[in-house]
Amino acid sequence: MMKLNIKETFTTELPADPNMENTIRQVENSVYSFASPKRTRAAKVLHVSQEMASELGITEEETTSDYFKNIFTGNEVYPNTKPFSMCYGGHQFGNWAGQLGDGRAINLFEVEHQNKNWKVQLKGAGKTPYSRTADGLAVLRSSVREYLCSEAMFHLGIPTTRALSLSLSGDDVLRDMLYDGNPAYEKGAIVSRISPSFLRFGNFEIFAARKDIKNLKTLTDYTIKHHFSHLGNPSKEDYIQFFKEVSERTLAMIIHWQRVGFVHGVMNTDNMSILGLTIDFGPYGWLEGFDFGWTPNTTDRQHKRYRYGNQPNIGLWNLYQLANALYPIIEEVKPLEAILDQYKVHFEQDSLAMMKSKLGLCVDDANDLKLIQHLEDNLQLAEIDMTIFFRNLSSFTDAESGLSQFENSFYDFKNTTDEIKENWNLWFKKYEERLKIESLLFEERKQKMNAVNPKYVLRNYMSQLAIDAADKGDYSLIDELFQLLKKPYDEQPNNEKWFSKRPEWARNKAGCSMLSCSS
Ligand code: AMP
Ligand code: MG
Repeated sequence: MMKLNIKETFTTELPADPNMENTIRQVENSVYSFASPKRTRAAKVLHVSQEMASELGITEEETTSDYFKNIFTGNEVYPNTKPFSMCYGGHQFGNWAGQLGDGRAINLFEVEHQNKNWKVQLKGAGKTPYSRTADGLAVLRSSVREYLCSEAMFHLGIPTTRALSLSLSGDDVLRDMLYDGNPAYEKGAIVSRISPSFLRFGNFEIFAARKDIKNLKTLTDYTIKHHFSHLGNPSKEDYIQFFKEVSERTLAMIIHWQRVGFVHGVMNTDNMSILGLTIDFGPYGWLEGFDFGWTPNTTDRQHKRYRYGNQPNIGLWNLYQLANALYPIIEEVKPLEAILDQYKVHFEQDSLAMMKSKLGLCVDDANDLKLIQHLEDNLQLAEIDMTIFFRNLSSFTDAESGLSQFENSFYDFKNTTDEIKENWNLWFKKYEERLKIESLLFEERKQKMNAVNPKYVLRNYMSQLAIDAADKGDYSLIDELFQLLKKPYDEQPNNEKWFSKRPEWARNKAGCSMLSCSS
């Protein structure tokens, strides 16, 4: 029998909603409400992250048991634990949306293993008091995407929530995927996801919005005690320091996203982790053609608020909302403003450093920013695959053979104008010159560059292929991609086929280039 080292801190230290009914409502004066997962018709575990399981003290053998299946699909409640959903609010697409909460997430328990405390949560396990008008369920396609991407992000070295298991519920779920009035039944699924904390900016905002300063303080004190314990006893000074660290972590996470070409898609404040983790994998996407203006989220097609190039700005905008939320327990504007101003300064510095690392530049040169801007301009002159381009850059030898080394990263090299090619030749010349002041040898530089420019990312069409196969009952591609993405920076000669541009059929296909929020 699988035995977990349960150690509850959230439910033992924070106030619960006294109403035990599972009915839709506004929940005040509490951080969460108890809610039980729905029983499913025929649960089936499709995949388990054994790395994550072992972090929780679960053996490989245990993951194959019925007990594991029942616990991590919500069909059985682990002894002496009380599942619950959290209350939070959020700014959605720039507007305050009031109470949102875990509409389809149910927290099961906390596991402590090897001095780490993990929160375990099911996504898609049924209605909660926060489900509003929706069903609390999730479909297979969005669950495959969340499962694969959260573990892929982890292996890329990017702060993220994790996933333990992906299961079918055996129930059908009705979704209007394209919002065109044609709802259809899809297979229901449940992901068990894991994180040191699932707290979001929105958990703090909801109390501030309701002027519930007592609970705002209680929640902040809890967060500092468990997640920022180096800050010491909660005081005004510590709240400021806390905000500073959240700001720094948020920026660090977003710089990582920019480095690998990840576009979150829905950076609403309810999807911003207080620990600076990538959270809520919905209509996210990976850049194929490098384009600052790209967003995968069809809901955001018009304004492109959450486009690739805007993610750092949105991080700052979201931090302003968090600063406003924390203000009542700090009551000083200046230190908060100073931190937000620092974000801008750090962004300039850190993104330059990040881009330099992608180019293999270690020493400082006054023209580096110009060189990088020129590169970014060139990358947008014609459709050029971001991942392939930067990976190939580590093999760059000289400007003479420059462009020919990069032909395969262009989506349509044949129709690239001479003017564009000239621009590239110019850039390669500058890059060749610039490399001369570096001291690293070719092989050393290559190694360093390959450690920041992944060879394999979860391209949008790759997920879609795995989803289409899974829908037909073939789960082998889920495993193939899962294994591939465990070593995204390595050369994997047997997996060269995944180091290739998006195929043309995927250019405008739903699920590949456009993602719906309907999940
Ligand atoms: P998102 O922006 O997708 O992270 O979700 C915004 C809000 O909608 C959150 O409060 C979610 O819990 C809620 N939500 C999304 N999908 C569902 C669903 N199928 N059932 C209930 N609530 C949902
Ligand atoms: Mg969300």
